[in-house]
Amino acid sequence: MEREFGDRKIQLVLGDITEERSDAIVNAANSSLLGGGGVDGAIHRAGGPAILEECKAIRQRCGECPPGMAVITTGGRLAARYVIHTVGPVWRGGRAGEESLLSSCYRNSLRLAAEKGLSSVAFPSISTGIYGFPAAKAAPVALGAVARFLSEEERSPSIVRFVLFDEGTFHTYSEALADL
Ligand code: ADP
Repeated sequence: MEREFGDRKIQLVLGDITEERSDAIVNAANSSLLGGGGVDGAIHRAGGPAILEECKAIRQRCGECPPGMAVITTGGRLAARYVIHTVGPVWRGGRAGEESLLSSCYRNSLRLAAEKGLSSVAFPSISTGIYGFPAAKAAPVALGAVARFLSEEERSPSIVRFVLFDEGTFHTYSEALADL
């Protein structure tokens, strides 16, 4: 499933983001930047130790990464050249600024990709696993933030692909993309 925004597009696929061949993949990291479960663990396992080394160096330089922010490292052994690590908000019921923080994750990740001149970026569904953000609420926020960036920023990547890990999430994002 895909939708065009001028000469850019958003694509949705069902799959494993560690196998993505986009210029960068985005990691749903935690504030420590030192790895975790879910997609974070899978990316570090597949990409090897070079990614964690760079994360540790960033942490020493800048401290913890707060929710909504993003940093970029090598892709190590992954097919993707870079990993962009962004920290999603933990779902606390919806009144703690979760939607705006989630939107910042996508915008700040795309800003890093644009600064590097990348033409393709792949995202997982940030915050909808361990962090508990309901997928039906996350999907329009995620897709809306990306669509806005693609429409408004001149140097944005030309393809943004959401690589969704299960049928339910894929279906939810498909409906939200159609409604956008
Ligand atoms: P968070 O802590 O931000 O909620 P999780 O990693 O727990 O992050 O989950 C985010 C989403 O990533 C969930 O939908 C989960 O099913 C999905 N996911 C887990 N592993 C992968 C993978 N290898 N590729 C793509 N998505 C994945």
